Amino acid sequence: MRFVIKNEKLIPQKLHKGDSLPISQLETIPQQPPLNTEFTYNPDLQQFLTGKQLLFDDIPFPLDEIQAHYESGYVTYRKGIDYDGKRPVCTRCGNKDPHWFAVSPCSRCGETCHYCRHCIMMGRISECTPLIGWNGPVPDTKPPAKLNQWQGTLSKGQMEASNHVVEAILRNEEHLVWAVCGAGKTEVLFAGIEAAIAAGKRICIATPRTDVVLELTPRLKAAFPEITVASLYGGSEDRHLFAPLTIATTHQLHRFYHAFDAIILDEVDAFPYTVEESLQHAAVQARKPISAMIYLTATPNEKWQRECRTGKRLFTTIPARFHRHPLPVPEFVWSGNWQKQLKKKKLPANALRWITERLEANKQALVFFPHIALMEKALPILRQFAPKIEAVHAEDPERKDKVLKMRAKEIPLLLTTTILERGVTFPNIDVAVIGAEDTIFTESALVQIAGRAGRSKDHPSGVVTFFHYGKTDEMLKARRQIVSLNREGIERGLLNT
Ligand SMILES: [Zn+2]
Ligand SMILES: [Zn+2]
Repeated sequence: MRFVIKNEKLIPQKLHKGDSLPISQLETIPQQPPLNTEFTYNPDLQQFLTGKQLLFDDIPFPLDEIQAHYESGYVTYRKGIDYDGKRPVCTRCGNKDPHWFAVSPCSRCGETCHYCRHCIMMGRISECTPLIGWNGPVPDTKPPAKLNQWQGTLSKGQMEASNHVVEAILRNEEHLVWAVCGAGKTEVLFAGIEAAIAAGKRICIATPRTDVVLELTPRLKAAFPEITVASLYGGSEDRHLFAPLTIATTHQLHRFYHAFDAIILDEVDAFPYTVEESLQHAAVQARKPISAMIYLTATPNEKWQRECRTGKRLFTTIPARFHRHPLPVPEFVWSGNWQKQLKKKKLPANALRWITERLEANKQALVFFPHIALMEKALPILRQFAPKIEAVHAEDPERKDKVLKMRAKEIPLLLTTTILERGVTFPNIDVAVIGAEDTIFTESALVQIAGRAGRSKDHPSGVVTFFHYGKTDEMLKARRQIVSLNREGIERGLLNT
């Protein structure tokens, strides 16, 4: 789309002939027209656009209607691509890396146009695409009298964290909840969500994985049956729903702009936050300038741990699981050059014994490998002992199926890469890592892996064994973290002793 500037206003060329340019090539874009309170805005457009940043293609309203709202100050146009000196920067995803921009002849502006490849799955942003937002009043949402219908009770540790979450949300602060695997972090959010909605705030829970969105949605709808809950992931139906409570994958945050009074960011340590700056950019854009941010993690990275220790970051730990039993502490077992053994179609004797003992005792186990190729070498060896053993990795099309079968106890032992390090819960398993010295097994990965054991209250303990060919710092840090959380759990009276 090309624009003409007339009377200090942007006008799409389609609506006015004149000297026009793609929006990003305009030196400065005119100031936002003042809000004309006489203008009758379209409440459907208001619902659709509030807190968003969308492309014309995303908005099912006629161009002249959008333009009329812009001219009366209700709709904003921002440059889709801006320049930092000569370098293009994508306004939507924050991409600055020249490799992620491409140039192509563009049918929308008739020039060769830079576009961002990084966020292209959400529709193409190019030099001639404005990002369209809402500048008028926000839709009225009256909170129902009774909000939170959740009937459960919180553990003492959960209760403390829950109170801090409520405070942080009401005071527009940042707060980290460091909750061990199995602490029950979702329940910790209910009071905060309730307080936010009662105060007329708009709140969003963002998580890296679609699976988690799908799992959380029915739980939150059950807890808050009277309010609209939007559930957003690639291809979801709720994309245009205006809701006081939104549950979204972090990617979906790219479509929001100054939308939320509070964002709860789940698994801040996990891929892709640490890898992808653009998702941090998305979270920053999606929150209002004055807003609360709650971070959830079981395994904060070193920098955050240090900030917690030195008082630079507000945080609450839940060092104990809801069932009040300590976290299983991993044992380290040296297994020699296991990769060399695998090449000879053998497993180290102690690792093999660990596995066969469990097969004989009918105790299910997860066995982690650093790489797919090595895992696939181990699979036929182990199937000699139990043909139903399976292996799973990220690209495995049967991944979900195998996890379900494991849960149904149809698989005695599941070999896996780090794909199952988090998010999955099996009630009664032991856990082993083969090759725990591999660099893929960071402190946080190892803590998460150990956190798979002892999850249910009927089986609160489990054995966690790291087989290695030389202990690493990451292994030691992981064990130290677990031991220290258990100690804190005892000191705070959160564990049965
Ligand atoms: Zn173009
Ligand atoms: Zn982009």
